[in-house]
Amino acid sequence: MEIENSNPGKDISTEDIKTKFPLAAKKSPNHKTSVKVGNIEIGGRDIVTMMGPNLVENRKMIFLIAQWAKENGVSILRGGCFKPLTFPYRGDKYFETGIQGLKWLAEAGKSFDIPVITEAVSESQVALVAEYSDIIQIGTRNMQNFPLLTTAAKTQKPILLKRGFGSSLRDFMGAAEYILLEGNSSLILCERGIVVPHTHRSTSRFLLDLQIIPAVKEISHLPIITDPSHATFWAPWVKPLALASVAAGADGVMIETHMDPRNAAIDPLQPLDLIQSSELVQSLNLIAKIVRK
Ligand code: PEP
Ligand code: MN
Repeated sequence: MEIENSNPGKDISTEDIKTKFPLAAKKSPNHKTSVKVGNIEIGGRDIVTMMGPNLVENRKMIFLIAQWAKENGVSILRGGCFKPLTFPYRGDKYFETGIQGLKWLAEAGKSFDIPVITEAVSESQVALVAEYSDIIQIGTRNMQNFPLLTTAAKTQKPILLKRGFGSSLRDFMGAAEYILLEGNSSLILCERGIVVPHTHRSTSRFLLDLQIIPAVKEISHLPIITDPSHATFWAPWVKPLALASVAAGADGVMIETHMDPRNAAIDPLQPLDLIQSSELVQSLNLIAKIVRK
């Protein structure tokens, strides 16, 4: 369907689509791109699952989760090494593993033949992350860090761009355009929850905006996945929202998975355990079979 107005009351005008983000915009109703990472296609016929811990805590845990992921049909292994943590203090319980974590993640991915994704928090980490990771993740807090977007894009590695939690679709498209403008077309969008007035639960920091999935599909050719773990911050709500995301047309999901959620170093309320995660993969594939023809 055509968006037919350029009235200022609308967030995105027809003029914007033509002049502000021509590369991210669809050229025709069926224009759709996908991103290839190894044997995995994001935005293709099948949905993708990116699963793994918030933080690559140690070598043993990431190897265990990598093996579980491979055996359970997970598409991509996620794991944070450099973290945009809310508080600056680090200790035995709240820490990052940085370069060491990155090496463990890459090693685990290679050992079990599964692509990996991790975040680059700053421009200075981009080269290193590009060397070890198959996909560079740009976090919600950095969606409009334009020098970071440009530097990451220039590596020509696939990029997962998370929507800023206070950003409109127009802002999101602008950030995507910065990446595409560097000639890097391997771009995946990710809705991970936004800040709006809501009172569902004191721990629900963000609200997963399912409506952005059809909205993106209406104006852009880019694939989009969701991250219900970071949106809900609460494990029991992850499955319903993951299923709803795929039902709404998402090309996949990113889910936090941990073998011992209560003892996760970061955000222990949000990961699913291994059993819940494998069951979720199966349920997602069932929904995908129905909605993706
Ligand atoms: C993450 O995926 O580990 C993360 C920090 O996500 P976000 O940028 O969405 O908060
Ligand atoms: Mn997190």
